[in-house]
Amino acid sequence: MKVRVLGCSGGINQNAATTSFLVDDDILIDAGTGVCNLSLEEMRGIKHIFVTHSHLDHIASIPLLADTLFDDLTGQPLIVHALPETIEALQAHIFNWVIWPDFTALPDRDAGVLKLEAMEAGAVVELSGRQIEMIRVNHAVLGVGYCIRANGKAFAFSGDTTSNDNFWDRLNKLDSLDLLFVESAFADRDLALAKLAFHYCPALLAQDLPKLKHKTKVCISHLKPGCEQEIMAQCKAALPDWDIQQLKNGDVFQL
Ligand SMILES: [Zn+2]
Ligand SMILES: [Zn+2]
Repeated sequence: MKVRVLGCSGGINQNAATTSFLVDDDILIDAGTGVCNLSLEEMRGIKHIFVTHSHLDHIASIPLLADTLFDDLTGQPLIVHALPETIEALQAHIFNWVIWPDFTALPDRDAGVLKLEAMEAGAVVELSGRQIEMIRVNHAVLGVGYCIRANGKAFAFSGDTTSNDNFWDRLNKLDSLDLLFVESAFADRDLALAKLAFHYCPALLAQDLPKLKHKTKVCISHLKPGCEQEIMAQCKAALPDWDIQQLKNGDVFQL
């Protein structure tokens, strides 16, 4: 399994894009602005998008992908997997003919180029030997993380979350965990804001990460632009026993 980071920032600038990871050549985990780092040919390879939650920084590229790939997707739709509540939000607030055309009903009402497929937390979708499992987390809207297993290796991503037990409990039931992406959107001086917005900051992450029994490589994502060094210094100071690094645009992990 290959995991390529297309975007992993909490915001945008010329060097930063929001959350999107390409798994092998055909699966996206979230579709934030990082999707723009793909060539048109690479975009054509995407068959499935697994969405963590409905916030714009994680879905921004879905409507634009549907338009860009319209001819390629006619007759073989791009499948978007998400919680039922996330699907409802996409349908009501994005694909509503006001913000964007309803690509689930174009070019044909019964055969759109986008297929929104509801998935329950705890469910597993199997795609060519890869098992993608949805895990509930604790965010401002209903949100999930994912665990992807293939060839005896496991990769997990927290999505957007603050303190919770469920994500860590589920990962502890795995035989092994080879790579973890977890968010820390804010620095500790924004602890109150992190709690209000249901994100981690280093102090909150330091309470939760030790729940994990797997001493795996940990990559921090969703850092607020301009605060990266501060957040990473605080993560490393609060979690000295852990192999922690900042997740960066363009990183590629081969598991
Ligand atoms: Zn969010
Ligand atoms: Zn976010």
